Amino acid sequence: MEWPPRYSENFTPNLDQEYWSPELETMPPAERDKHILAKLKRQVHYAFENSGFYQEFYKDAPVDPANLASLEEFAQLPILTKEDIRREQEEHPPYGRFLCVPPEDIFRVHGTSGTTGRPTVFGIGKEDWDRIGEAHARILWGAGLRPEDTVMVAAVFSLYVGSWGALVGAERLGATCFPFGSGAPGQTERAVEWSTTVKPSVLYGTPSYALYLAETARQMGFDPKEDFGFRFMFFSGEPGASVPATRRLIEETFGCYIVDQGTMAEMTPWMSASGCRHLDGGMHLWQDIVYTEMVDPQSKLGLPLGEEGVPVYSHTERTSQPMIRYWSGDIARWDMVDCPCGRTYPTLVAGIYGRVDDMIIVRGQNVFPSRIEDVLRGMDEFGGEFRLVLERETGQMDRLTVQAEVLNEAFASREFDPSALEPVRERFTGALRRAIGVSVAVELKPAGEFERTQFKARRIIDLRTH
Ligand SMILES: [Zn+2]
Repeated sequence: MEWPPRYSENFTPNLDQEYWSPELETMPPAERDKHILAKLKRQVHYAFENSGFYQEFYKDAPVDPANLASLEEFAQLPILTKEDIRREQEEHPPYGRFLCVPPEDIFRVHGTSGTTGRPTVFGIGKEDWDRIGEAHARILWGAGLRPEDTVMVAAVFSLYVGSWGALVGAERLGATCFPFGSGAPGQTERAVEWSTTVKPSVLYGTPSYALYLAETARQMGFDPKEDFGFRFMFFSGEPGASVPATRRLIEETFGCYIVDQGTMAEMTPWMSASGCRHLDGGMHLWQDIVYTEMVDPQSKLGLPLGEEGVPVYSHTERTSQPMIRYWSGDIARWDMVDCPCGRTYPTLVAGIYGRVDDMIIVRGQNVFPSRIEDVLRGMDEFGGEFRLVLERETGQMDRLTVQAEVLNEAFASREFDPSALEPVRERFTGALRRAIGVSVAVELKPAGEFERTQFKARRIIDLRTH
């Protein structure tokens, strides 16, 4: 087997083809495992030879990293965490000893913003960048993207690799690219103006952004369904595209279908978890591109299909800064689904719906913010945004208050009679209790109370003192 694989630069399937790579996408899973093992063997061997970090990291590994015999042996290599990357990059700035190519061969430098600690740096070589484009084009083909489409990338162009990854995939596929960006003052108004004139057929951003775009368009007198021409949207960065009520809301608002995507920036090609044009929520795991294991959050041991756990990701064709068995810290459930697309990949059936660190425990019950979002968006009076306020009094359990906006029609009467909203509040409280199994406090707020975002919404307000 040739490793790293070489792909033809000009290939695109015929327009009526479902698959970019029929053989890889419809392989029987057992056969795919052999293909993945062959790639991982080379990947791990390569990293072990070329990276001082992995030489040290695998020093006491119970298996031989230079010659893995099975996926079971692979699963005995230690798990890599964000902390490991931070520490290594601090000691050996800027890339750590992860870099397996000479620094002058780096084609792109990306990284995390470092909002929760020291930023991490990714050096990506030219050949890797081309393979990222190839992988994303292949996955976007499955999402329904075709060369005649115009893709509006409505996410910030910065260190953040999400927008660039979307762009390079759409470019490789041969679509018309409209790298609009986001985040500047007044840019969402301009996005409305531009998309009602250029009429892009596809949008990339976050689910929050799509909802904000619709709200802005309505304020400007446009109808998102009539005046835009979106055929589909693909999203990353937030769980919304697999939250059923959010998904339906976006689809109905724009009259299009939506596709959930995204693993982590560190794992670019981050589209390796992605829905297809048929899948109604959830993401297929394109295992031959980035290999995903599901592990138990405590024991870190592998979990069979059907179980909920933490996805652990591995590059299979990365030469510049390979990430092997990278702990995502996310929570998801995987299983086989009978998708009309016919792909034989396992699927994160409800997308990525939480983070191990963000898990809210209320009276012994695990509560995921995405579940609360689903309930709220199913309520007729819901005003579009919400916040989750977490508090803990000394020696007490966590207390969760859901602050939910309600539509102005419902709120207007409050000035005359504050108790008029009580039945609405009770309805919200009841629906949340049924969905998450415990009672939480609900406060109602007028629509527009909470800031809208062009990027990822920050909905948890943690007032706990630890
Ligand atoms: Zn599918």
